[in-house]
Amino acid sequence: MIPMVDLKRQYQLLKGEIDAALEEVFQGTQFILGPNVSALEAEIAAYHDISQAIGVASGTDALQIALEASGIGEGDEVITTPFTFVATAEVVSRLRARPVFVDIRPDTFNIDPERIEEKISAATKAIIPVHLFGHPADMDPICDLARRYGLKVIEDCAQAFGALYRGRKIGTLGHCGCFSFFPSKNLAGCGDGGMIITGEETTAGRIRLLRNHGSAVRYRHEVLGYNSRLDEIQAAIIRVKLKRIDALNDARRSHAELYRSVIGRSDILLPLEQAGCRHVYHQFTIRSRDRERIMAVLREEGIASAVYYPVPLHLQDVFSDCRLRRESLAQAETCAAEVLSLPMFPELTDEEIRRIGDVIDHAI
Ligand SMILES: *Cc1c(COP(=O)(O)O)cnc(C)c1O
Repeated sequence: MIPMVDLKRQYQLLKGEIDAALEEVFQGTQFILGPNVSALEAEIAAYHDISQAIGVASGTDALQIALEASGIGEGDEVITTPFTFVATAEVVSRLRARPVFVDIRPDTFNIDPERIEEKISAATKAIIPVHLFGHPADMDPICDLARRYGLKVIEDCAQAFGALYRGRKIGTLGHCGCFSFFPSKNLAGCGDGGMIITGEETTAGRIRLLRNHGSAVRYRHEVLGYNSRLDEIQAAIIRVKLKRIDALNDARRSHAELYRSVIGRSDILLPLEQAGCRHVYHQFTIRSRDRERIMAVLREEGIASAVYYPVPLHLQDVFSDCRLRRESLAQAETCAAEVLSLPMFPELTDEEIRRIGDVIDHAI
C-alpha cells in the first residue's frame, strides 16, 4: 500500500529529537504560550526575514484573525479563489463579510489575476490569494491591484511553507501571511496549529490581542478576542521540523522531477512550475479527462490518490448566497472534474514513484 502521506516514516526519522523536545515540555510545564511558542515565532520570523510572527491555534484561525486585525468585517467583500479548502472563504463569512469568487488559471490552479479587477466593487476590502498545492499565486499583479484600490492582501500560505515567488518567500508579499501546521502540511505538528506573519507592527499587536481573549495584560481585556493560541507541545515538534524544512521541500521537489520523467502519457497534464517560482509540492496534482479510470486502477494496485477539490466553493451549499452564473467560473469547474493528486511526502521512495508512474501509464 502506498498512502497519500505517511506520517509514521517522518516520525521514525526524527523520533529521538521529537521525544526529547516533548520530554522537555512536560518537565517545564509551561503549556500555554511557553518558551517553544516564542522561540518558534522568532525562528519563523527570521526564516522569512520579517519582523512579526504570531502563533495561533490553526490555519483557519490564522486567516480569520489576520482578516479581523486588518479591519475586515460586516458588509465587506473579500476576493478569493473558489478552488481551495473551505477554510479560505469560511472565515470571510464568519466575519459577516462576503466571499467573492474569481476564476483560476488552469495551469497553476491559482486565482487568475486578470479576472480580479472586474470583481472589485466599492465594498471590496481584501484579496486572499491561496498558494495552492505549494505553487505561489501570481503575486505581482495581485499586489499592484491591491495598491491601486487600497485593498489588504492576506496570503493563504497553508500549503506552501518555503515556496518562493521571484526569489521572495510567500507570506511576505502581502500584508499578512497565514500558515497551517495541520499534520499533513509541509511544515506540520501532531495536531492543529497555525501562524501569522506580518511586517506591520500595529496589525501584529491586534493579532496578539485577538488570539488571547483581547488581553495584553492578564485580566485586562481591550477587545473581544478568541482563545486561539498555538499549543506549546505542537510548537516544540514544529521546531524540530523547521530546522529541516528546506531539505524536506527539496525532497518533494526531486520526487516531482521523478514523477515527471516516469509519467509518459501525453493525455495527462503535469503540474506547471511557473518561471521565477519555487514550487514546494504540497501536492503533486495531475489533470486528465480519464481521472476516474486512473484512480480506480491505482486503487486496484494498492496506491492511494485523492481529488483536491471535487466541488469548487462557489457551488457549495454553504456559499449559495454568493453563487454566480454557473458558467462564469468554468476553469475551476473543469479542474474540479479533472484533477488527481498522487502520493507526495518527503520520505516517499524513488521505487514507489516509478511504480506509480508505471501503473498510470498502463491504466489506458
Ligand atoms: C489546511 C488549509 C487551511 C486551514 O488550515 P487548518 O490548520 O486546518 O485550520 C486553510 N487553507 C488552505 C488552503 C489549507 O490547505
